[in-house]
Amino acid sequence: MHALDEIIIFCPYCGEALDVLVDTSAGAQHYYEDCAVCCAPILFIVSEDENGEYVVDVKRDDD
Ligand SMILES: [Zn+2]
Repeated sequence: MHALDEIIIFCPYCGEALDVLVDTSAGAQHYYEDCAVCCAPILFIVSEDENGEYVVDVKRDDD
């Protein structure tokens, strides 16, 4: 089963708000997805907090 949740993040390169789908059934993970606006590779870091809620961080590749 896949659980895709739509969230809004802000591109760490150009600052645009982006709707993205995150597969929260896969647990903690990280992956790259290109910004739909500036095409830069955004690093998505998905992790679970102690309540089992998932948290999504976005970072620049060069951080
Ligand atoms: Zn961007």
